[in-house]
Amino acid sequence: MSISLADVQRAGFPMGGEPLIALDLVDTKMLVTDPPQDLIPDEATASAWWRVQSPRLPAGPPPDLADTRRLRTAIRDLFDAHLAGRTPAADSLAAVNTAAAAVPTSLGLIAAGDGYREETRWHTEHGGNAALAATARGAIELLADETRLTRLRRCASPTCSMLFLAETTRRQWCTPNICGNRARVARHYRRAHQPPFTN
Ligand SMILES: [Zn+2]
Repeated sequence: MSISLADVQRAGFPMGGEPLIALDLVDTKMLVTDPPQDLIPDEATASAWWRVQSPRLPAGPPPDLADTRRLRTAIRDLFDAHLAGRTPAADSLAAVNTAAAAVPTSLGLIAAGDGYREETRWHTEHGGNAALAATARGAIELLADETRLTRLRRCASPTCSMLFLAETTRRQWCTPNICGNRARVARHYRRAHQPPFTN
């Protein structure tokens, strides 16, 4: 199950619909504004954000705001550390692993028509939150996959902190209707306002 950028923007968030919930989560904080702008400033907005993600999450209640932010900070640090070629904070690794381990999964076999289908079961009976665990797990799978990780990028706009997974090597902008368009407008402006030759 996937969700689109349009789904996310309809719900009032500027960026999302990336293949990973972990990426959409880190993109709920704009780091280039001073101070950084949190796009999920309260419990109600966090719930609304998790609701948009729900088609691709295991069933269960939305995580609370503090847990959401803690996981977001940890994943962002791991992603940024990779992009910057630095070592992430030890706390970040621990936070992601703790969130993932709080809800272990098992594979079940379900009879379906003539055959079977497999079903992943999320064991929330241990007290963890399945949405957080699934988000953490997505981050783990990306960071451990060297090939796929080469597609992790930061938006080419210096005034944007959004991260995304580039499906094509040509993708440079987080969203075509925000940064992509801003870049096009800037290029057009530069061309239209070339200074006259002076020599
Ligand atoms: Zn951008």
